[in-house]
Amino acid sequence: MYDPSENAAADIAAHFHSFTNLAAHPEVGPLVITKGDGVFVEDDKGNRYLEAVSALWCASLGFSNERLAKAGSDALRGLPYYHTFTGRSNPTVIELANKLLSVAPVPMSKVFFANSGSEANDSAVKMIWYYHNAIGKPEKKKIIARLNAYHGVTVASASLSGLVTNHRDFDLPIANILHVDCPHYFRYAEPGESEEDFATRLADNLEKRILAEGPDTVAAFFAEPVMGAGGVIPPPATYFEKVQKVLAKYDVLLVADEVVCGYGRTGEMFGSTTFGMKPDILTTAKGLSSAYAPISAVMVNEKVYAPIARNSGTIGTFGHGFTYSGHPVSCAIALETLKIYEEDNVVGHVQSLMPQFWKALRSYEGRKYVGEVRGVGLVAAIELYADPENRTSFDPAVKAGARLVEIGLTQGLIVRALGDTIVFCPPLIITAEELDELFARFERTMAIFE
Ligand code: PLP
Repeated sequence: MYDPSENAAADIAAHFHSFTNLAAHPEVGPLVITKGDGVFVEDDKGNRYLEAVSALWCASLGFSNERLAKAGSDALRGLPYYHTFTGRSNPTVIELANKLLSVAPVPMSKVFFANSGSEANDSAVKMIWYYHNAIGKPEKKKIIARLNAYHGVTVASASLSGLVTNHRDFDLPIANILHVDCPHYFRYAEPGESEEDFATRLADNLEKRILAEGPDTVAAFFAEPVMGAGGVIPPPATYFEKVQKVLAKYDVLLVADEVVCGYGRTGEMFGSTTFGMKPDILTTAKGLSSAYAPISAVMVNEKVYAPIARNSGTIGTFGHGFTYSGHPVSCAIALETLKIYEEDNVVGHVQSLMPQFWKALRSYEGRKYVGEVRGVGLVAAIELYADPENRTSFDPAVKAGARLVEIGLTQGLIVRALGDTIVFCPPLIITAEELDELFARFERTMAIFE
């Protein structure tokens, strides 16, 4: 019988949780994290865990960065808040916008700020619709995303997401948002099909879908460089090259959702660089502030910005923005984060850890219950199968992924399960010794799971 601690009982009494089985919560209770230290976090019972997922793929600089704490407290004492409506600004939002343009993977013209990845993607959808009205193509409004994508939870971004739990009983997706193939080679390639041929087939399917819908009705294509919450799915070789040819042919904008991939995760500053994407719009959040403050950004190129600006002149305003767009405290923390990435050469550090990370992960290939090991840079997944040889998944009732996460906790390790896919997305500051420790804890976890 579950006997909740005082903290847990108070949580159960009052807290409506995100992405949680709410019916089961009173019997399971929360894991209450009280502090952090580098790549480790500690719960209210004093148990320490190595956080192998950077919490929600976001705490890239770990959980106790003093520079970020100081940047935040200095900003709070300086200018705790001002808004960005009607042309108002503040020095940190100005500096951050310019900094982001200087690190963008492709030439971008302007940066819009919001508070979360979902808001960034929602804003991108609205910009795309506004843009097409502005250029006199009001019928060009459909947006294509992919099955298994994760773009957030607001009404439009949840619609873009291609996961059942984001749609079911929320009456989503909304109109004008369509989904095409998930680019997961291991799962969806036909027998004997090469990665390149799989990519060709998916690009052909995309073209057929655009033609079926009518190219004059298709506005944009959203893609994460590596799909994150859909299961850490890197694109098959040549995929974005072929997809972008199709998009260019029918004048369809490309939006790169870099919310997980941005700022070093893929071994380069942006996943767009790793996979040769040339987006018109790029959305980013999470690593932008290493999660020390809520902030997200939408970068748009001049092709998109100029007509939007012109149209807003006709209407009298661009009628979109959040109270906290360009919040000076969040902007100060984001600026300091970007400085640390640069000064500490975090991308170089990631590259230096990649051989060790991938050697450890690859050692699980062929192991009992391991179906596929996949990922890029410092983001990876191990997908568990009941019978990997015959590609037989576990019965969902077994809750294999959730069980492995529970065992991990007993070994002082936090990993994340997406169904039966186990995610690794450690803070980018992790050291070689800590990476060894991560896999030592995971090995013990797998030994118990077996
Ligand atoms: N886009 C991607 C690729 C994400 O992984 C997420 C969150 O995990 C989001 C968007 C939504 O971000 P947020 O939870 O900050 O709204």
